Parts: sequence; C-alpha cells; structure tokens
Amino acid sequence: MKKGYFGDFGGQFVPELLMPPLLELEEAVEKIVHSDEFQQEFTRLLTDFVGRPTALTHCANISRELGFNLWLKREDLAHTGAHKVNNTVGQALLTKMMGKPRMLAETGAGQHGVATATAAALLDLECEIYMGAIDVKRQSHNVRRMELLGARCIPVESGTQTLKDAINAAMRVWIANQQTTHYCFGTAAGAHPFPLLVREFQSVIGREAKAQFKEKTGEMPYMVVACVGGGSNAIGMFHEFVEEESVKIVGVEAAGTGEPGCTNSAPINLGTPGVLHGMNTLLLQTEEGQIMPSHSIAPGLDYPGVGPEHVHLHDIGRAQYGTVNDHQALNAFQMLCRKEGILPALESSHAVAWVLENRKSIPKDANVIVNLSGRGDKDMGILEEYLNKHGK
Ligand SMILES: *Cc1c(COP(=O)(O)O)cnc(C)c1O
Repeated sequence: MKKGYFGDFGGQFVPELLMPPLLELEEAVEKIVHSDEFQQEFTRLLTDFVGRPTALTHCANISRELGFNLWLKREDLAHTGAHKVNNTVGQALLTKMMGKPRMLAETGAGQHGVATATAAALLDLECEIYMGAIDVKRQSHNVRRMELLGARCIPVESGTQTLKDAINAAMRVWIANQQTTHYCFGTAAGAHPFPLLVREFQSVIGREAKAQFKEKTGEMPYMVVACVGGGSNAIGMFHEFVEEESVKIVGVEAAGTGEPGCTNSAPINLGTPGVLHGMNTLLLQTEEGQIMPSHSIAPGLDYPGVGPEHVHLHDIGRAQYGTVNDHQALNAFQMLCRKEGILPALESSHAVAWVLENRKSIPKDANVIVNLSGRGDKDMGILEEYLNKHGK
C-alpha cells in the first residue's frame, strides 16, 4: 500500500509549505506514539482522567422488543461526554512530548474545541481554537466553555464562516508556527498521518468493547455499528474488528431531512471522488467540484467529506454504510430515553436508528454492539426546536 493511502484514498494533497510539519508529525508518530513511555502515560490518562474503560451496556428493554440483543459501548460516559477526548488527550500528550508549548484546533459545532481545550488545560499547553464566525454565534455556549478552560477562541470571517473555513485558517496558522505549535485535528480524516493518528487514539473503543463482550458472553458480536461524520468514533470501534471476518461492520451516514435532493451528510452514499482538506476521498460536491453545503440535525455529522479509510472499507466490501434521516434519528433518540434511561447524542442516535430501521434483517438472538459516541445534553436546544415544530 502506498504511504498514507487506504486503497485509492487518503494521501497528502497539501501545499508545499504544509509538508514540513506533516513530515515532522509522521516521524513523531513513529518515534513517540509507539514508544512504551507514551503508551504507559496515555493509558494512565485514559484511566484516571477520561474515566476508561467506559461501560458496555446491554439494553434489556429494547432487546426484548427487537428479538435480538442491543449492546451500547458507552462513550457518553467518557469525560466531557463523548469519544472526542480520547483523541485530544492523545494529541496533547504528543504535543508535550514533541516539546511544543501550544496546540491549535478547528471546530464546527464546538465539541472538538471543548475537548481540545480540556486536554490542553490538563497538560498545561496554550490553546487556540479556530471557529467559523457563524458557528461562534450559533454555539456561544461552547465558546464560553472553551474560554473557561483557558483557550482562546478565534472567529474565522472568511468563506462560508463555518467548519470548512476554520480548518483552512488553522492550517495557515500551523504553517507559520510549526516550531511551537501542534495542530490537533478532530477526526480520522485530513492529510496523512492524521487518519492513522486519530485511529490510533480512538481504537481503544473497539479494543475495550471486544474484551468486555468476550468477558460477558465468551463470543464475538454479530455486528458492530457506529455513526460516521468524519469517521473517528466509527474507525475507533471498527479497527479491532476488521480482521474478525465473522463480524459485520456498519457505518451510518446522515441523510438529512431525507427528502429527494435535500442537503445531507452522506458522502459515501451520495458523494463523488475529490480532494478536500489534504485527502482524496468521497465528497458532496457539484460537477464542477464546488463543495456543497451539508446538513444533519446532528451537528457532529455535518461535514461534506469523510475519512479515507471508510471509503476504502466500503470499496473492498468489508464494511457497509447505510443512511438514517433526521426523523428516524429522533425516534431512536426518544426510544433510548424512555426505554433505557439513556439520553444519547443526536449523532449516536443515527447509529441506534439504523439498527431499529433494519431490525428485520438481523437474526433472532444476534448480538449487535452500537457505539454510543456521546451524550445528548448538548443537543437540548436543537431537540426543543425540532419537537416544537414537528410535535411530541
Ligand atoms: C463529533 C461527534 C461525532 C462525529 O465525529 P466522528 O469523527 O465521525 O466520530 C459523533 N458523535 C459525537 C457525539 C460527536 O461529538
């Protein structure tokens, strides 16, 4: 396999000036991340700070109704309420061990910004978060959280003033400040080595799930399922199971409102090949290559591209990628609240919804593990608005 590629996808499609920091990072991954010293300290932080291992919960009430077993890997129980902190603690520790005093990051809805600011505070790093000016207004709550954690939040006024432009701005600042600064990328996408680096830090999810499930049942699950935005919680869950050929792997993309021609966030199902943020992948774009606006009720799924490894797993038929619309995700959200006492993130609700919508294709008594990527407290505003408009 070509360096930094997953089949035909991935690579390093970046301006010349971005190559030195990427090469430095590649070397750091080899020398530092794979060292015993790093691994021991990372494991300690995941245990003592993040609160790992997170639970593997059997949903007894929903399982009874479905006729097969639904299990949840509870990333909602991780510190800050989602899986993102696994990655930011890993990258903060790497920054520290590379001898750099500062991290910067982009954020869309603000979740990755908060997770980065959290890890920076823990490891005494300076922290700057680039955020589209429109997102800053929409997510003032998260901006406050980042500031309380000691980070500086910088509104990006260019382009559409959203995530895509925040990433471009952060890249430019990284180029100019390579000596002192690490760019803490938020998902398993972007230029090599970010997809590998983020997978490395998130794969603790699947490793734990496999061991916990084995301890409880002595078996391998029938299927693992996760929602796909950029693809980090999903690849974190899938990586450990890719070699286990008996285990079915399902990624779930957001279909938006679900009407024909509506904006969505499903590039694997509805996109075409192209280059964005340093990688060759599938994208929502016009025939001329203009990136199209994406939409999902779940802010964390709202991205027009996807991590290259998912496109590859789809290509070779090792994983299947389905879609779920806003309404179906809301139904799953309510079901989990009422029947299991768990208030899931809207992103994670997409993964649960896929299982509910496809229940007829799943054998009786099968074991399905869904990665519950985060908790839903952050989504109360969106939920209230939706439920007011659509009833219930
Ligand atoms: C950010 C986020 C996602 C989507 O990001 P991935 O990189 O695809 O995992 C999913 N769930 C939650 C709770 C998130 O915060």
